[in-house]
Amino acid sequence: MAPSLDSLPADVQYLVLSYLSKILSGYALDGVPRTGNMLEQLVQLAPSTGQLMKTHPYQNLAATCKQLRVAVEGYCRHLLDRHKDIIGERRIPELERDNWESLASKNAFGKRKNTKVRRETYRNAWIRATNEHCVWCGKRSKRKAVFDMLVFCCHQCDERAYGKKTTKTAAIQIYGLAPIIWLRPDLVYEGYGLLPLKRAMKNVSGVLATYLLQKEVVTLANFVREHDPDKRKVRSAVKKYGKLGQKIHGNGDDTEFILFWDVLLPGYLSETDYESSNVSE
Ligand SMILES: [Zn+2]
Repeated sequence: MAPSLDSLPADVQYLVLSYLSKILSGYALDGVPRTGNMLEQLVQLAPSTGQLMKTHPYQNLAATCKQLRVAVEGYCRHLLDRHKDIIGERRIPELERDNWESLASKNAFGKRKNTKVRRETYRNAWIRATNEHCVWCGKRSKRKAVFDMLVFCCHQCDERAYGKKTTKTAAIQIYGLAPIIWLRPDLVYEGYGLLPLKRAMKNVSGVLATYLLQKEVVTLANFVREHDPDKRKVRSAVKKYGKLGQKIHGNGDDTEFILFWDVLLPGYLSETDYESSNVSE
């Protein structure tokens, strides 16, 4: 029988919980929008704190059984502790047999005096602290990070936390990287273990723009300069797969994405000729 989540060692449970810590983790969406449709869904996503209290995976896990509730509370306490500089230290009293009565009267506001204690939980505190607040500096912000739209992130923290961004046009024109290179470097330069560059879309004044991380673009441009100075491999890949990889056949996610690009940028194939661009760095 496969082990259940509550039977795993605490460090493995924490690892699992760490993947769910983002405020919008409960929505089965990828935080990095690679298509206009994905972007639209992520932009529209604005649940209230009340809704998140019901839908966040930590709430569902905590409702499952006592062991998982303890694990979730322990992990959220750890998260609050790690972020205490920005969201203030939140010490939530432990509920013990001999203190529940005094805690209850403290929290009671008169009429609840004789009822059972309604203790704040660490998971609720974490949800409140990170909904519509920058997860990096704690400032109130409804803006989501460009490269992770499952968290709120102010403009200032975005670059510091995720790195400087550059546009797809700059990657082509300034760094001389044809789309096929950063979309599928593994096909252009086989055997080097290269991965597609991270890319995200953003609506800039009504126009969909594709962003890449500058650090990754520069690293890849240096790689190309070193391993393919005359761009022979790029040319052969373009011939084989098309500039945007539109001739790649398969059912992979990336293939769909590349094909989508073809639809998204109908003028691109004829208008832009990456070979005539200058490499300035
Ligand atoms: Zn911030």
